[in-house]
Amino acid sequence: MANVLIVGGGAAGLMAAGAAVRQGHKVTVLEHMDKPGQKILVTGKGRCNVTNDCTAEEFLRHVRTNPRFLFSSLGAFPPAKTMELFEGLGVELKVEWGRRVFPVSDKAEEIRLALLRYAEGAEIVHDGAKKLLLEPLAPAEEPAAAPEDPRHTKKKKPGPAARCVGVRGTSGKEYRADAVLVATGGLSYPTTGSTGDGYRLAQQAGHTIVEPVPSLVSLVSHDPDCKKMMGLALKNVTLTLFEDGKAIFDEQGEMLFTHFGISGPLTLSASSHLGDMKKHTYYAEIDLKPALSEEQLYDRITRDFALLANHAAQGALVKLLPSSMQPVMVARWGIDPATKANQITREQKRELVHLCKHWKVPIDARGDLAHAVITSGGVSVREVDPKTMQSKKALGLYFAGEVLDVDAYTGGYNLQIAFCTAQSFANNL
Ligand SMILES: Cc1cc2nc3c(=O)[nH]c(=O)nc-3n(C[C@H](O)[C@H](O)[C@H](O)COP(=O)(O)OP(=O)(O)OC[C@H]3O[C@@H](n4cnc5c(N)ncnc54)[C@H](O)[C@@H]3O)c2cc1C
Repeated sequence: MANVLIVGGGAAGLMAAGAAVRQGHKVTVLEHMDKPGQKILVTGKGRCNVTNDCTAEEFLRHVRTNPRFLFSSLGAFPPAKTMELFEGLGVELKVEWGRRVFPVSDKAEEIRLALLRYAEGAEIVHDGAKKLLLEPLAPAEEPAAAPEDPRHTKKKKPGPAARCVGVRGTSGKEYRADAVLVATGGLSYPTTGSTGDGYRLAQQAGHTIVEPVPSLVSLVSHDPDCKKMMGLALKNVTLTLFEDGKAIFDEQGEMLFTHFGISGPLTLSASSHLGDMKKHTYYAEIDLKPALSEEQLYDRITRDFALLANHAAQGALVKLLPSSMQPVMVARWGIDPATKANQITREQKRELVHLCKHWKVPIDARGDLAHAVITSGGVSVREVDPKTMQSKKALGLYFAGEVLDVDAYTGGYNLQIAFCTAQSFANNL
């Protein structure tokens, strides 16, 4: 039986606690917020998209950063096991569009309470982890040097240099443990408790932190048209994201114009493809009518204009576009607003088709980290064992959940990452 200390009582921390208790370990969870699992309450717009009902193979296609790191943990604890676990805890589940799994109650609180029930038997202590307690490895603990072989001149990577024996809390109290799991989450939505502490703890043990950037986040555009159409949600459109003129993301779905740029599910997914915005230029192109080819759209517009022959330009667009987009389209089109539908030339119709198929939105920045769904970046997975989640820098130190440099699209994938990495930790102690 090991003495296990878990830093962070979020999705990963509570899952790890429950699994470790079931393995017979003595478990303490340090949580610096008044209540554990606060982020769970804001997930899925308060409904908690708890996982995605897909196979491990399909799942990995939705992981944006370091999917290979998850091979082992996801194979051992795939979405089916998450569903089984919650159902076993009394949560009825339903599968919605895109195989997103939600509680039938549509209440994220139900998932939080189920996780707390699962973690029963662990002691939850209200304190923050300030510092890792690290001790140099005793000579007997150091990994044995490989016998010299002149054929292999490649230098061996250094093994762990220290052992983590616990944590000093912000209260000043020391918590000693055989295994310390850092499950402190990322940097987004800091009001839920994830304030990036895990990165500082990891750095203390010599870990590399891949720069944390907001992901699954709204995008900022200086284009005044966005503000003019703020609140307009477009369904069944295609958004293509271009990096230095090359398409790097292309998907159909729903998006939204806001006072600062664009948002909505398509935008959030596109955001996880952005690279270094100081080095590259980005713009989004929206195909407002993806179901129609340019020719089909031209014919459709021609029919509309014949029906609305005496309407001025904006009025001629009533069947084609939502009302808040019509004046903006007329301005972009550059047509005299007084032009009657039956006076619009072929060339002007072709221009309109082009605008509908390639509505351009320059992208200037990511939305801020505080409002991102997840943080991309974090503890480099090169320095963590993918099977056990143990640090390669310090024995007895482990990581799980969003603190790791692993992230995925929306759809229940990110909670599943927290769950499977947590289970891998507990089941390999
Ligand atoms: C608005 C929003 C909606 C989302 N919706 C979904 C969704 O529907 N489906 C999905 O799969 N994912 C969703 N996510 C992402 C998902 O919530 C996270 O990926 C997941 O919660 C990560 O789990 P975690 O345990 O690693 O971190 P967290 O859940 O952030 O938990 C970390 C915990 O550690 C505690 N902590 C931090 N530092 C310390 C410290 N020094 N000492 C003690 N405790 C500490 C924090 O208070 C917190 O309780 C959403 C995220 C947001 C912001």
